[in-house]
Amino acid sequence: MSKFWNKKTNEIEAYVAGEQPKTDCKLVKLNTNENPYSPSKECEKVLKEFDIQELRLYPDTDSTIVRDAVAKITGLERGNVFVGNGSDEVLAICWQAFFEKKYNTNLGVLVPEVSYSFYPVYAQNYDTRLIKIPLGEDLSIDPDDFCVRENCGVAIANPNAPTSIAMPIADIERILQANPDSVVIIDEAYAAFKTKYESAAELVNKYPNLVVVQTLSKSYGLAGLRVGYAVASKELIEGMIKIRDSFNSYPVDRIAQKVAAAAILDVENYEINRLALIGTRTNAMAEFRKMGFFVPESSANFIFVKPPVEITAESLYNKLRQKGILVRYFNKPIVKEFLRISIGTDEEMSIIVEAIKEELKNA
Ligand code: PMP
Repeated sequence: MSKFWNKKTNEIEAYVAGEQPKTDCKLVKLNTNENPYSPSKECEKVLKEFDIQELRLYPDTDSTIVRDAVAKITGLERGNVFVGNGSDEVLAICWQAFFEKKYNTNLGVLVPEVSYSFYPVYAQNYDTRLIKIPLGEDLSIDPDDFCVRENCGVAIANPNAPTSIAMPIADIERILQANPDSVVIIDEAYAAFKTKYESAAELVNKYPNLVVVQTLSKSYGLAGLRVGYAVASKELIEGMIKIRDSFNSYPVDRIAQKVAAAAILDVENYEINRLALIGTRTNAMAEFRKMGFFVPESSANFIFVKPPVEITAESLYNKLRQKGILVRYFNKPIVKEFLRISIGTDEEMSIIVEAIKEELKNA
């Protein structure tokens, strides 16, 4: 609290990002869903060849080379693509561009009750009302719940976070059809890790109210670069550009644009890393189930696990931390019984499994 802060700054509950340790000591870091594998070699080449003189000049406001790379891999056009400083920024711009403020409407934005914890922060920051739709007992989202309520927008993470569960594209299509007057955001931060890859991007030409948001942070191993993008109808993209240019016209720097474009065009590296991660995840899910954990079927680069009765999630989180293994624990209703564990290398997953076995023995 400060007398110099305005009402919003005093009141807002900011997003709490996963811990980024500032020590050099070796930790097994499975807490922020980063990719354990290397970014594309093409990115390294770009960095080695980058001419420092380029930094004298502002970057291209539109990140055209990135838009063109996304257009190429999705089969869409440049005008269907928006690029931002991480998908958190892209989501924030969508929120401001498409969802009505609560003093202008009685309606709210539909979100799953358990979902990405930034959504309530956007709602508070941009004065929109949120309507939280409960999940099923198995933590899945029932698309019908998003088809029957009047709203001023819909935001769904697919696969959902932190539950890791994916919804089929056919269900997304039903939601789009039921909400022709609202913008529907599908946050595909983790879509690359579906066993059979499918993206709602394929529906963009059919539904003018759809925005699909993706990130290079997870699937391309570029969390440190801060690049995310959205694909949508040209009408929606133009709205997003208007809001961007009312806030920061140069969100993506010259280095990030070149590295991002190179990564996106290296389809082979993306596919190799994606499949390797899915393989490790399959083994990890089996190991955790063998240890008595409840593990929903994951389509993401993390698993969401409920420990057996011997130990609580919170206590296990603390025990692992003492051993230098970081995972994510959310002390909130429903999810506080679970841990979210990012999929690391096979070696890292063996370390965590062995550590947990030891804890269960001692419990
Ligand atoms: N959406 C979801 C569901 C996420 O979990 C994250 C990562 N915290 C993001 C978006 C944002 O990712 P980034 O800003 O790194 O692109």
